[in-house]
Amino acid sequence: MTIQWFPGHMTRAKRQMQEALKTVDMVIELRDSRIPKASQNPMIEQLIQGKPRLILLSKKDKGDSREIDRWIECLSNETTIVVAVDLIHDNVVEIIVNACKKIMKPKIDKQISRGIRPRAIRAMVCGIPNVGKSTLINRIAKKKVVETANKPGVTKALKWIKLHKDLELLDTPGVLWPKFEDQEVGYYLALSGAIRDEILNLEEIAAFAMKRLIEQYPENLKQLYGIEVIDDPYKMIEAIGRSKNLIKANDEVDYARTIDFFLRDLRDDKCGRITWEKANV
Ligand code: GDP
Repeated sequence: MTIQWFPGHMTRAKRQMQEALKTVDMVIELRDSRIPKASQNPMIEQLIQGKPRLILLSKKDKGDSREIDRWIECLSNETTIVVAVDLIHDNVVEIIVNACKKIMKPKIDKQISRGIRPRAIRAMVCGIPNVGKSTLINRIAKKKVVETANKPGVTKALKWIKLHKDLELLDTPGVLWPKFEDQEVGYYLALSGAIRDEILNLEEIAAFAMKRLIEQYPENLKQLYGIEVIDDPYKMIEAIGRSKNLIKANDEVDYARTIDFFLRDLRDDKCGRITWEKANV
């Protein structure tokens, strides 16, 4: 999927999100477990304005569990709870209900102490493309979609999915743009599938990925390709090409085919569970 973010798109997405945010108590922000920083929207903090937040690190089945634990530690704070999920196989309803109730507890306790009976928590899902927003909402909505309700002050009818007696979810997610501040972020987004790698230079993406794997996951490389790991990413790609017999007529390694081969292996998760970005704990 290619999403081109033009200033007009961004302004519209921001405005829609601001409107929707007025109707919710908290936000469920999806990020990709393999790239917890690069899959963050640059404006999210400003948009949610201190509202309680659940960060769901999706695709945990593809990420490195040790590194994901570090990310959970470094992203959690007083108003943010962080949970890693496999949106396809985990019991997402239970996970989300428990996490939302936990992060909203101080506010709910305050209401109770003032004699106010708390209503169900209202939350909205948001995140950049490809993080799993529709997967999450479809899985939940298949079970129970609740009435379309016109709330005072909200012009557009909002549909709420009743997850639980204590939690309702806005049925339309907020689609946000990724940040393209630097080239590395672009590489990470391409490696996660958030942006089509054709729009970037494949050789650069492959060299970048190889460098990260050599630094962080040399054992995975060794196991997949059955060759000794070389420190230089370009030489390593060449060695893989030679070992796979991707050779041109002049006996040189066919670099383009090798890159293609390597990137396909990454896309098919053949290199194991990888979290590309390291947490600063
Ligand atoms: P959206 O653009 O944020 O709505 O993302 P989608 O829900 O369309 O998900 C993008 C792709 O990621 C789809 O192919 C999903 O099947 C896949 N996906 C979503 N969540 C998970 C997850 O937790 N694990 C795995 N393995 N794949 C997931």
